Amino acid sequence: MMQIPVVKKQLNGYVGFSNLPNQVHRKSIKKGFFFNLMVVGESGLGKSTLVNTLFNTSIYPAKVEVEPTVDTPKTVDIQAISADIEESGVKLKLTVIDTPGFGDFVNNEDSWRPILAAIESRFDSYLEQENRVNRKRIVDNRVHACLYFIAPTGHSLKPLDIEFMRRLHQRVNLIPVIAKSDTLTDEEIKLFKQRILDDIAANKIEIYKPQIYEGDDAETIDETKKILERIPFAIVGSTQEYEVNGKKVRGRKYPWGVIEVDNEDHCDFVKLRQMLIRTHMEELKEHTNQVLYEQYRTQKILSGGGPVIDGNPDPFAKLDEEKRAHEAKMAKMEQEMKLVFQQKVAEKEAKLKQSEEELYAKHREMKEQLERQRVELEARRKAIAEGRPTSPEQKKKKSGLFK
Ligand code: GDP
Repeated sequence: MMQIPVVKKQLNGYVGFSNLPNQVHRKSIKKGFFFNLMVVGESGLGKSTLVNTLFNTSIYPAKVEVEPTVDTPKTVDIQAISADIEESGVKLKLTVIDTPGFGDFVNNEDSWRPILAAIESRFDSYLEQENRVNRKRIVDNRVHACLYFIAPTGHSLKPLDIEFMRRLHQRVNLIPVIAKSDTLTDEEIKLFKQRILDDIAANKIEIYKPQIYEGDDAETIDETKKILERIPFAIVGSTQEYEVNGKKVRGRKYPWGVIEVDNEDHCDFVKLRQMLIRTHMEELKEHTNQVLYEQYRTQKILSGGGPVIDGNPDPFAKLDEEKRAHEAKMAKMEQEMKLVFQQKVAEKEAKLKQSEEELYAKHREMKEQLERQRVELEARRKAIAEGRPTSPEQKKKKSGLFK
């Protein structure tokens, strides 16, 4: 397996994962926390900036702009980078899985394929470890969430966005985000969010939504509802600090002021971070394990260990479909056999009828022949009785022609 370099990172301020112990049992604290986050979107949409903003550290080194050359890869690449980060004594091993190249080509039709393959191969690796005799040290490389960056066009989702989400939603917790939302007005964001949600619903795409559970206290329910209201999150990323009213804030500076990353009135960054890190990291991992991975495992078993047919959410639906196809094939074969049988019977009947008629004709002919012979014999018998010649030769003899 490929070794991922791990770097130790110092945080510059509040992130929120020190709240992790409140999310789970003490046992997990001992084991340490880990989270595998995938980021997908066209290059330049601010993926690395957002990851650095989310974890308040430069997980991603500053990018060097590369001029596209003939050597530029023609396929989507999958790159992972891990960082051990610590906040208030709580450690988190974060792995970011980047997908450079996605959506950057003239033909992006199959851009989703290598990403789906990477997610499934991580499931396969987990499955393989589970099946080992010694299952003590299972390494969980599965992707626990996927931030999907939507370009801030203000229109609706692009076919590429829909195709990607449609292909991936049964394999990963999809979290769509509107990239660089500071380039849109509040009104544009509102309309854009509605169109995105309409497109998602029309295409039956299931994105990750935090659940409200029976027994949740009023405060939790209220917090979850506030997160749900902001989906899809309109985000702004920046690790740059500016001074606003005597306070240092992270944001993006415009001639008319600073758009603050950590201000809930300016964008949805805080709510995204809250869901991803503070309150729902464990739920994302649980959903990955109990629903997405389990579904994949079942399909894998049903396919006899072979490749799982992508995009089919329900393995039983696939079986039903196969059963129906088989039944239709059998019915068609039966119908064809019936037709062939009827045709053969008709042919045989026609043949029998023909031989019957031939037989009758022969019989009639023989009868007529016998009748002729009988008449002839009768005539001869009469002639003999009357002393007349019975043949032309006798006639000639009698008339003295023959001496
Ligand atoms: P990536 O290729 O998707 O990883 O994008 P980067 O994070 O490298 O960002 C590309 C460019 O967009 C950089 O110049 C960033 O400063 C800028 N950028 C990143 N996030 C935002 C944002 O939220 N708003 C705006 N206006 N620009 C951003």
